[in-house]
Amino acid sequence: MSKEWDAGRLDSNLDGVAFNTLAVRAGQHRTSEGEHSDPIFFTSSYVFRTAADAAARFAGEVPGNVYSRYTNPTVRAFEERIAALEGAELAVAMATGMAAILALVMSLCSSGDHVLVSRSVFGSTISLFERYFKRFGIEVDYVPLADLSGWEASIQTNTKLLFVESPSNPLAELVDINALSKLAHTKGAMLAVDNCFCTPALQQPLKLGADIVVHSATKFIDGQGRCMGGVVAGCGEQMREVLGFMRTAGSALSPFNAWIFLKGLETLSLRMNVHCANAIALAEWLEQQAGIKKVYYAGLKSHPQHMLAKQQQRNFGAVLSFEVRGGKDGAWRFIDATRLISITTNLGDSKTTITHPSTTSHGRLAHQEREAAGIGDSLIRISVGLEDIADLQADITRGLTVL
Ligand SMILES: *Cc1c(COP(=O)(O)O)cnc(C)c1O
Repeated sequence: MSKEWDAGRLDSNLDGVAFNTLAVRAGQHRTSEGEHSDPIFFTSSYVFRTAADAAARFAGEVPGNVYSRYTNPTVRAFEERIAALEGAELAVAMATGMAAILALVMSLCSSGDHVLVSRSVFGSTISLFERYFKRFGIEVDYVPLADLSGWEASIQTNTKLLFVESPSNPLAELVDINALSKLAHTKGAMLAVDNCFCTPALQQPLKLGADIVVHSATKFIDGQGRCMGGVVAGCGEQMREVLGFMRTAGSALSPFNAWIFLKGLETLSLRMNVHCANAIALAEWLEQQAGIKKVYYAGLKSHPQHMLAKQQQRNFGAVLSFEVRGGKDGAWRFIDATRLISITTNLGDSKTTITHPSTTSHGRLAHQEREAAGIGDSLIRISVGLEDIADLQADITRGLTVL
């Protein structure tokens, strides 16, 4: 058996294949065992043939693994698959989504740089910028996500990075990623998009002009609420900086978690299709119910950015929120009356979850800040799972009847 034939048959030829094929096969480099599924490489270090080989690998003169804090074949398979799905040159996996955001900013920004962040980002992301990056001389300002003229007015000569989440949590606001990336580039800044809510199955920010994508793989990429993980993807030059930080800081992803995420990606499109179908059905149905004051979901024609969502996303995602009659008491009664849906702040799970943002995920914000962000006491957020839609409606009806 010639070596070329062997390699050619063991690894799939992925030239020109479509997204769903990449989601199943990209990043897999089979060993001489010929395993069909992805193996998990549980090893902290790697052996060298000779002392000279070790020296050459440590010096980076020849490629190859040295230590699993730096590289690991299972983690690399996940990184290659994410890079393929996001249309990135390289991706770097991390222990959590927050570790990914930390590595992104630590590796690409310095003291004296200015960063602009959309107002409605994930709570821990705000804490990271406010409590830690500011301490080390990074200037941080916040801009309402959808307000392009606000972004333009806030960019300074030292603005290095724009950081957004689109769609936002929990109100499903969007920013025009293409327009914002053009704005960033004319001012010499980079645009990073946290693509956790859409996943590459619904939105590919790099193809819309963004420079960097970050993910909490903990959410839809896993898809079944099992493992923590994160990933940053973008061009080679920047990702080598991110890798340099990650391998020194020690926020490496476990190979077991990488394997879970590889399995998650194999069903990503299928799952997102059902998540989205359930979410739009639920959103349209909720809009018709007495006791529901307003529903926030970009798939609804009533959503002010419905057309933009159609343009830059393949579908509208699984997260929706709504205001109920009766303020906080009404919202809590509603949540407590459900019997199927899980009361938990996690999202992106096959199980539907329900949460009261103003007293949980956004509870640390001052009342005025919450009101300014539109997160009132009567708001409930649902991450719509994969259960039967009739069962979800029946459970939510339990909530509606106690309003
Ligand atoms: C959960 C989440 C994060 C943080 O990810 P972890 O894996 O929990 O560290 C970042 N951004 C968004 C949008 C998230 O939902």
